[in-house]
Amino acid sequence: MAKLLEGRIVADKIKEDLRFRVQSLKQSPVLASILVGDNPSAVAYVKAQAQIASSLGIIYKLHQLAENVSEDELIDFVLKLNADVSVNGIIVQIPLPQNIDYLKICELIQPHKDIEGMHPANIGKMLFGQARMVTCTANAIMELLNSTGIDLYGKEVVVVGHSEIVGKPLAMLLLEKFATVTICHIATSKAGKLQEHVERAEVLIVAVGQAGLIKGEWIKTGAIVVDVGINRLNDKIVGDVEFATAAKRAAWITPVPGGVGPLTVAILMRNLVEAACAQQS
Ligand code: NAD
Repeated sequence: MAKLLEGRIVADKIKEDLRFRVQSLKQSPVLASILVGDNPSAVAYVKAQAQIASSLGIIYKLHQLAENVSEDELIDFVLKLNADVSVNGIIVQIPLPQNIDYLKICELIQPHKDIEGMHPANIGKMLFGQARMVTCTANAIMELLNSTGIDLYGKEVVVVGHSEIVGKPLAMLLLEKFATVTICHIATSKAGKLQEHVERAEVLIVAVGQAGLIKGEWIKTGAIVVDVGINRLNDKIVGDVEFATAAKRAAWITPVPGGVGPLTVAILMRNLVEAACAQQS
């Protein structure tokens, strides 16, 4: 039976270190968070961020903008936060309304305040293994893998999902560790090849958003399984991997909820504290 790979345990260690680092700063770090509209998952994420920030001595300034805000108005708002020297980091909550181009907004945030690591300059630096700000979910997954003690050098790592926030940046971080990385996506499934890739994964990371996509019997014995997916099924939150059967074969598996999620916010706060340290030095 697999051991549980719990994000909360790793997150608690990161937060303990952050509390100490925040105390040693001249000024409390300030995180500016922009929420457009009232999407329920964004609202829930904001609440979690605010609560963790306050527990760490970080000032969390929430700026709520109306759902019908124009792209130009949002741009002006971000530019003001860029110019405000008291703000150490900026996060724009997603999803944004259809009329707003997310990439345009990401490009606008000053790279040293881009605590989500989505500015093209930060993504480019990641390609060279030099990023200060690495996207939070990909970084959280790396922290989870690291907590198992695995040496990724030469390991067969299969990532299912190739989004800009998970699969693509994760592939770069895994390559930094000399893992042999395979990225699967919708076309892999359509070609009928998903199962064969998953079956040879010594480390499997799944970020799709489809409950039960990965069958438990596909899991290689002794594999590490990180399930990033979040799906609501019969009033329960489940991942993309069939947990019960997968847990019988894997060596480590993340619970959903309780795996990657709790770590993501801790990493966001770590990026902010890094930014504040650099800006205050
Ligand atoms: P996305 O919609 O941007 O990307 C989905 C990916 O899955 C794409 O690469 C797509 O090609 C692939 N895909 C779709 N159907 C497939 C199939 N049948 N077979 C193989 N691949 C398929 O999604 P995202 O934003 O990366 O999020 C993915 C999941 O991870 C969602 O459930 C999301 O809620 C969750 N998530 C969790 C966290 C966290 O902190 N826990 C963070 C980000 C995303």
